[in-house]
Formats: sequence, C-alpha cells, structure tokens
Amino acid sequence: MQHWPTLPDGRIDARSLTRPQLAEILGELDGRPDRARRIFQWIWQHNISAFSEMTNIASRTRRKLDAALGIQPLLSAGVLDSTDGTRKYLWRLSDGKTIESVLIPDLNRRTSDGRNAPDRLTLCVSSQVGCAMKCSFCLTGDMGLLRNLTPAEITSQILQVQRSLPDGMRLTNIVMMGMGEPLHNYDQLTTALRIMMDGLGLNLSHRRITVSTVGLIPAMKKLADELPVNLAISLNATTEEQRRTVMPLTKRYSLAQLMETCATLPLPTGKRIAFEYVMMAGFNASMADAERLVALMTPLVGRAKVNLIPYNENPDRDIRRPDDLRVLDFQQHLINHSIHCSIRTTRGRDISAACGQLGKGAAPLTSSVPPRWVPPTSTVGLTT
Ligand code: SF4
Repeated sequence: MQHWPTLPDGRIDARSLTRPQLAEILGELDGRPDRARRIFQWIWQHNISAFSEMTNIASRTRRKLDAALGIQPLLSAGVLDSTDGTRKYLWRLSDGKTIESVLIPDLNRRTSDGRNAPDRLTLCVSSQVGCAMKCSFCLTGDMGLLRNLTPAEITSQILQVQRSLPDGMRLTNIVMMGMGEPLHNYDQLTTALRIMMDGLGLNLSHRRITVSTVGLIPAMKKLADELPVNLAISLNATTEEQRRTVMPLTKRYSLAQLMETCATLPLPTGKRIAFEYVMMAGFNASMADAERLVALMTPLVGRAKVNLIPYNENPDRDIRRPDDLRVLDFQQHLINHSIHCSIRTTRGRDISAACGQLGKGAAPLTSSVPPRWVPPTSTVGLTT
C-alpha cells in the first residue's frame, strides 16, 4: 500500500484524504473503490467518529475500515469571545501543540443603499503551527515554524466550528489567513482545499475560499493553475527595500517580480487579487506611499483590489497605527486613481484575534496579560 498520512496509532488518517484517494484505498482494501462516495459523505457530512457508526455499509466492511483508517477530531481547548462578536478557538493537536482559528460573524448586513444583505460568517483558518516567514509586525512569526498542519488538521477547524454553530447557520467564507504561510505547506493545503470544495465533503464554493500569501511566486502560479480559489497577497510596502525590512523572507522574490506575476496570473471569473496592506505609522502610511501604491496597482486595475489594514497595536511591538484621517486620505487617493480600495474593520482586538496576533498568547493593547481561554459553549458571540 502506498504511503498515506497516518494517525499516531498507525492507522491512515481518513480526514486527510480526498475522495479519489479514499477510492484508491478502498480498492486496495476490498476491491470496492465505488464505495468512496458514500463513505466520504459519512466522514464529512455525518458526525461519525468511527466507521462502525455507518448504518448503510456492511458490518464486515466497517470492521475492515475501522482497522485500517481512523478519524481523529481536533481537541477543543477553549474559546475567547470578543465584545464585537468575534470568537477565537484554541485547538490542541495530537502532539500537544496548539493552533487557533477565528470566527468573524458579520450579521444583519446592509448594502450601501440600505437593503438587507445575506449574513456572512467567515472563518480564518490556520495552516501551520507558527510560521517561518517572520513578518516583522506579526506575533505568529515570533514562534518560528514548529510544523506543518495535516489536511485533516486544516479541514477539521472548519468542520468542528461548523458543527458548533446554531441550527440554520452555516460558514459562508473561509480565509486561509490564520497561523502560517499556507503556500509554504502547499501539498497539505491543496489536499485540504480539495476536501473543502468537494460537494460530498465540506461543500464550500471555491468563490468563497481565499488563500493568503506573502508572495511565494512559484507556489502562487501552481495554485492558480490547479484550483480556482481567491488569492490575497500580503503586500505591506511600496518599495523593494521597505518590503524586505518588514517581510525578510520575501528577499527571494522581488516586488517587481511579484507585480509582474500578478498581472498575468489566471483568476476565477469576475474575481480580483486582494492586496493586503498593513498600515504602520511612520513606515508605510505616508501620502508618498499612497502615490507609489497607485503606481504599483495601476497596471492591475480591474484585476486587483487593495485592503488597507490599520495596524493592530499590541504591547509586544513598538508599532503604531496611523490616525483615522490619514487612513481615509490614503484610501481616497487610491480611489481617485480608480483603484478598488477598502479599509478592513478591525475585529477581535480585545481577545488578540486580530490580524497578526494569533498563536503567541498575546495580550491585547488594553491589558498587560493575555486573555484567559474558557471552555466552549455553543452560541455565544453570534447575536450581534
Ligand atoms: S503575517 Fe502571515 S506569513 Fe507573515 S509571519 Fe505572520 S503568519 Fe507568517
């Protein structure tokens, strides 16, 4: 049998398999790859923790499956609820390491002309324990890379949060923007994405899944060729030197190469590449930066948008967010040049769930101690 991902007990990790991979294993186990459809659905759409629970499969097959494959849920180690409705989840992995995911509800939405808009429930998902990219503003980067997550550990964050939601509520958007650089864990990430998009798996539309990257160009191209998900690029600078200062691991791929790649990358129909721009006072938030950002974005008009993210201040960094007026002027300058530009509302600051704050037990700005995790209850935080 070929080398499949395994659990600590030596059995194949069933939640790390795409449907075709499961079919291959079933073919090897008892010559019935055609059962993959039904069994895959049991794994992802019914709440089973062992194959013995599948009621419409022969007991001999169930025993064989239980002997060869296992299903290991993530251990929920606590949650933190923000006053703004954001919820941060702490998960303990089988080797004792921990990761975090963040649920960002955007309920009772209105369009700009006042009509009701569908609720949005976004989950920010981790792809690694820690991160090797060491972006200077990010606390996860301080951890270094401890290890990659398996496809099961990535997808189980989604499955388990989905199952904890009140009846009738469903995650609408997935952003791979939690701990880690997703494209630095390419094979496991793409297996996880295939499970997310499988109609019998997590059944999420590719149009609602976004993968964020610091700009690992070869992996960006490969991803664009293989899967039609949305791409977000962590830009954060307008000159080569500035970018190397804030994101040292991008030295290998210059800003010029990155922008050139973005100009030709195949995109899902009607979609734009999102450029994330963390605004730091005295570093990249001047109007000269706005002007340079216009120059970088102008060749991409129609296929790019900019998200301005005023820095989330915290006691671990001596970095300040620019004042609100500067952020608005910066945005207006881009809009005046026909560049699609929004300002990201900061969510979960009081529980260190905001951008760049995951994983390190960070204290929020308002306190010198990290917030305390509490045991999960089902629906707190979803009523705003
Ligand atoms: S911003 Fe993202 S890529 Fe950079 S160190 Fe933090 S987690 Fe890693």
